[in-house]
Amino acid sequence: MIQLIDVSKTFISDNVSVHAVKDVNLTIDQSEIFGVIGFSGAGKSTLVRCINLLERPTKGQVLIDGVDLLQLKERDLRLHRQKIGMIFQQFNLLASRTVFENVAFPLKHRGISKDKIKEKVLSLLDLVGISDKLCSYPSQLSGGQKQRVAIARALASDPSILLCDEATSALDPQTTKSILKLLKDVNRKLGITIVIITHEMSVIKEICHRVAVMENGNVVELNDVISTFSNP
Ligand code: ADP
Ligand code: ADP
Repeated sequence: MIQLIDVSKTFISDNVSVHAVKDVNLTIDQSEIFGVIGFSGAGKSTLVRCINLLERPTKGQVLIDGVDLLQLKERDLRLHRQKIGMIFQQFNLLASRTVFENVAFPLKHRGISKDKIKEKVLSLLDLVGISDKLCSYPSQLSGGQKQRVAIARALASDPSILLCDEATSALDPQTTKSILKLLKDVNRKLGITIVIITHEMSVIKEICHRVAVMENGNVVELNDVISTFSNP
């Protein structure tokens, strides 16, 4: 479970304060698919980046399964952050590494044997449906294939939470559907909590259980989503 309590984030740039997130209170349940929608600049990305402390809130508490991340020392924080995977609009894959190596990357330097890493990577690539591309480089893949690799990499640390920042915004409608279906499968098979940032209502309707609407750093509405997607 994710609990944001009175979370605020203020950026200071050129001596001007930008209140990107203002006193947000939000609880996201385990295994929920939760959407955050709003116009550009509303504070969606900053809010969601506060969940894994890519942005450190200026004020408030971030509790993951009851643990306040802001109180943790470096080593414990690192362990907790491994349990929160993230994917992005621009995929952020390593261009000089193969698909296999991109997915293996987070598993390296953790004292896991090469055989175990290989087994894990192959099973993740199978899960995301891209086993035939393991020796390809990112530049040889379509956008949808790149996002599948990014999802496999994000799942490598067995996270309990997956944060998706405009993960389908660079994709065409057909590919968007297939990636959303994959996220839905991941949610159902692995029980992972998924938080999805988008500016498109169609994405929310396709897979989210609930949605927060953001405006000027505030959550102005919190709604259940009536699904238009009949296939479970
Ligand atoms: P959204 O994801 O809804 O587009 P963001 O969270 O990216 O919104 O941005 C919210 C506000 O915070 C915007 O006004 C943006 O310009 C500002 N902002 C975001 N990141 C920074 C930063 N690193 N430094 C200064 N201002 C920032
Ligand atoms: P290192 O950086 O330690 O040399 P590598 O990233 O080259 O390690 O490889 C780690 C392990 O993953 C090795 O056992 C290697 O055989 C395996 N491996 C790497 N790429 C592939 C691939 N495309 N298909 C199957 N196994 C691979």
